[in-house]
Amino acid sequence: MSDPKHTRVLIIGSGPAGYTAAVYASRAMLEPVLVQGIQPGGQLTITTEVENWPGETEVQGPELMVKMEAHAKAMGAEVIADHIQSLDLGQRPFTAQGDSGTTYTADAVILATGAQAKWLGLPSEEKFKGFGVSACATCDGFFYRGQDVVVVGGGNTAVEEALFLTNFASKVTLIHRRDSLRSEKIMQERLFKNPKVEILWNHQLEEVVGEDNPLGVEAVRAKNVKTGDIIEIPCKGAFIAIGHAPASELVKDQLELHSGGYVKVKPGTTETSVPGVFAAGDLTDHVYRQAVTSAGMGCMAALDAERWLAEQDAP
Ligand code: FAD
Ligand code: NAP
Repeated sequence: MSDPKHTRVLIIGSGPAGYTAAVYASRAMLEPVLVQGIQPGGQLTITTEVENWPGETEVQGPELMVKMEAHAKAMGAEVIADHIQSLDLGQRPFTAQGDSGTTYTADAVILATGAQAKWLGLPSEEKFKGFGVSACATCDGFFYRGQDVVVVGGGNTAVEEALFLTNFASKVTLIHRRDSLRSEKIMQERLFKNPKVEILWNHQLEEVVGEDNPLGVEAVRAKNVKTGDIIEIPCKGAFIAIGHAPASELVKDQLELHSGGYVKVKPGTTETSVPGVFAAGDLTDHVYRQAVTSAGMGCMAALDAERWLAEQDAP
């Protein structure tokens, strides 16, 4: 077995949070090692146009992430194609085990493993992902100006997505599997008052229907969970908003987490419950979940790590 690979700062994850942390940690001369995981570039690699990254009126998600990777490397970060399968935060230096067989040791760790939207798991949903099926109204809502869309879910995310979509769409149908929402009452009130919103209670999305050439959504089929009746709702977009799952599996028994699995950080910082371990991006954030906020937190994590390491080094 080869010797462990030691670094001052190990960054786990290659989304906007991870790459931004790598840029800052490199410029602090910490020679960070960044492990990319099984989705190099993170969630933005599964979308098309990104129109809210400052400085780019429009950029393709994958292209933006290639640029971020190049930026991190140009600043001196070592970017490694590997996936961390286990992490020991119980003693310093911290130890991470990669799928490649490499053992990484680190004086400080920045966790930037992101979150993944939950999906219904329907084959038709998979087929139209990125072509009418989305899990991010903030990202894709703009493309549905003057069109009908549906939103699936009954929590805060679904209600927020539905309300946001009324800014663009002509009609928003919220499909929920029960007869009451679990979102906050004030949000429900706003939803009920909005003339563009119709709610389809007690229905479960069964199928997304559309054209193959070009690929695009034309309708969804939803089943009444009480009667079994199926109805078809014409629409150009289907937004799945049934929750997000933060990728906190690696640390779930080692760090304090919020309910829902998001890593807890000390307010206004990226410090987790273990000194020397910092968390950034969607892994810690159930509210904003944007590329730019994740990048901002990546910057904070690198600065927090730099200061923490300097304190450890002080005589
Ligand atoms: P992520 O981008 O989720 O990256 C997580 C990284 O962690 C990945 O590289 C993964 O490989 C790595 N990882 C996970 N586990 C491990 C492990 N065990 N070992 C090593 N690495 C690991 N936001 C916008 O601002 N604008 C948009 O237009 C926009 N469009 C979107 C479209 C879609 C379809 C989706 C799903 C999201 C969109 N978002 C958009 C949200 C945005 O993508 C996220 O907020 C952002 O990517 C979060 O960045 P992150 O760095 O926290 O994590
Ligand atoms: P959530 O509260 O877990 O709600 C998920 C919703 O999706 C529920 O209504 C659930 O139905 C439904 N659902 C789950 N699986 C489904 C499936 N397979 N088929 C159909 N429907 C399904 O998730 P969330 O709305 O993403 O919120 C997550 C957390 O973030 C919450 O704590 C929330 O308060 C918070 N949040 C806060 C804000 C804010 O403060 N502005 C915004 C967004 C999210 P049931 O109701 O039947 O279970």
